[in-house]
Amino acid sequence: MLGQMQDRPLLISSLIDFAERFHGDGEIVSRRVEGDIHRYTYADAAVRSRQVANALDHLRIAHGSRIGTLAWNGYRHFELYYGVSGSGRILHTINPRLHPEQVAWIINHAEDEVLCFDLTFLPILKAIHAHCPHVRQWVALCDADSLPGDTGMPGLIAYEQWIAGQGTDYEWPMLDENTAACLCYTSGTTGNPKGVLYSHRSSVLHAYAAAMPDVMCLSARDSVLPVVPMFHVNAWGIPYTGAATGCKLVFPGPALDGKSVYELMEAEQVTFAAGVPTVWQMLLGHMQQNGLRFRTLQRTVIGGSACPPAMISAFKEQYGVTVLHAWGMTEMSPLGTLCTLKNKHLKLSAEEQLKILCTQGRPVFGVDMKIVDDAGHELPHDGVAQGELLVKGPWIIRAYFKGEGGDPLIDGWFPTGDVATINAEGYLHITDRSKDVIKSGGEWISSIDVENIAMAHPAVAMAACLGMRHPKWDERPVVVVVKKPDTEVTREELLAFYQGKLSKWQIPDDVIFVAAIPLGATGKMQKIKLREQLADYVLPGL
Ligand code: AMP
Repeated sequence: MLGQMQDRPLLISSLIDFAERFHGDGEIVSRRVEGDIHRYTYADAAVRSRQVANALDHLRIAHGSRIGTLAWNGYRHFELYYGVSGSGRILHTINPRLHPEQVAWIINHAEDEVLCFDLTFLPILKAIHAHCPHVRQWVALCDADSLPGDTGMPGLIAYEQWIAGQGTDYEWPMLDENTAACLCYTSGTTGNPKGVLYSHRSSVLHAYAAAMPDVMCLSARDSVLPVVPMFHVNAWGIPYTGAATGCKLVFPGPALDGKSVYELMEAEQVTFAAGVPTVWQMLLGHMQQNGLRFRTLQRTVIGGSACPPAMISAFKEQYGVTVLHAWGMTEMSPLGTLCTLKNKHLKLSAEEQLKILCTQGRPVFGVDMKIVDDAGHELPHDGVAQGELLVKGPWIIRAYFKGEGGDPLIDGWFPTGDVATINAEGYLHITDRSKDVIKSGGEWISSIDVENIAMAHPAVAMAACLGMRHPKWDERPVVVVVKKPDTEVTREELLAFYQGKLSKWQIPDDVIFVAAIPLGATGKMQKIKLREQLADYVLPGL
């Protein structure tokens, strides 16, 4: 017997409709690329989202077509989130920090038909637009007066001009809730980046889950600052949860330095913020140097890489702010776990509480997880046994876009590539990554890319790239090199060799020459052993 409840699909358009009808006066504040502060409401955003949908219809963009964005966190990007997905197209957010060649590769792989970008990224698009044959319309996220005249990009239009003449009514299509809504590429550890295709259903379920009390606990009384970019797993879903809850949204635009973030937090009475540890390091540094305090900030979710315990205690002890340590990944939309205390932990000492708060926390309802040994056998949740972490749930990937990489699942579970323990109370502790990518300032650097370039140098026999701990950037890459016999190359020459092949921040900080790199039985480099050999190594400048 079937239940007798209404069969309403879970759609992204219903989030903005709800926001308009029931908290239409909720504020959305953005620091713009132009430098000023822009303010409007959810109701205003809803109207302009419908104009975006009409502009896409006008271009005869088919349902399921991809619309790319290279943009900071701001109100126009927010409108694209709803106008694009709501009307049945797929929002494809691109990380502008990638090398322009990688950006072009991703645009072409996704077959983006419209590309919307902040003027900050005009130089990237000027360089690559001629190599992106699928793009029919380039849209600069600005008004007509701000659009430079001599871009050399045929048909480039200002966003404000693009939507200005469009109607403000639009009937959102009643899509199947499993229809694709957004696309986000991960930097693959091997080969090219792979696309993760979220559905309307997965995005709406994630929006509900993120708002729960032991998750982000967002409400209409919060003022929320997502510093995490809208191109990094949809700013961890905050643009959707915001519309569902009616919280005030505060978008920081391109100004992510400590001073700008602090001033925006204070001016907009931010109660809740979200970002990677590097951003908060800059914020805390600015506050400590200038003896500043928060007036309103209560909680901040920190994830993307392990949050140092010193940061968690600095927030708590010096500023009275609770850190919610979160773990997730692009393939998980991204929420997997988030750390909050249980009632029984409240009587523990501050030191014991801190130990718990430094873990990655408990799974969000909807996410199931287990750890397994090398043979795939499940390991106990005893806080000691370490194994590869596998996950499943309705907002976790089933397959990559266009089937890249084959079937990623093992008996229905997605292997995360992270190594972890889980304790009897369900708290997850990530101990390591089985992949070798390096995370710098919240962004991946592929060790294989770094190695491949070194290997292209005529004097290099073997190269291994390692992430070395860095107090500001979490990790920085160094490349360990074995020279070919009877050849010469200096550290400076090799570093110069990287120029133009990788983005500046992806280039290694140092070159270490060694006589040999340890190899395993199958001829693979043994980076763990190599690390042990370099235990005393210190990055230049530290
Ligand atoms: P991404 O898909 O770029 O968001 O990266 C996901 C990966 O970042 C995870 O598989 C982890 O290796 C790492 N990660 C994310 N959050 C944390 C965390 N809180 N602690 C440790 N590693 C993390």
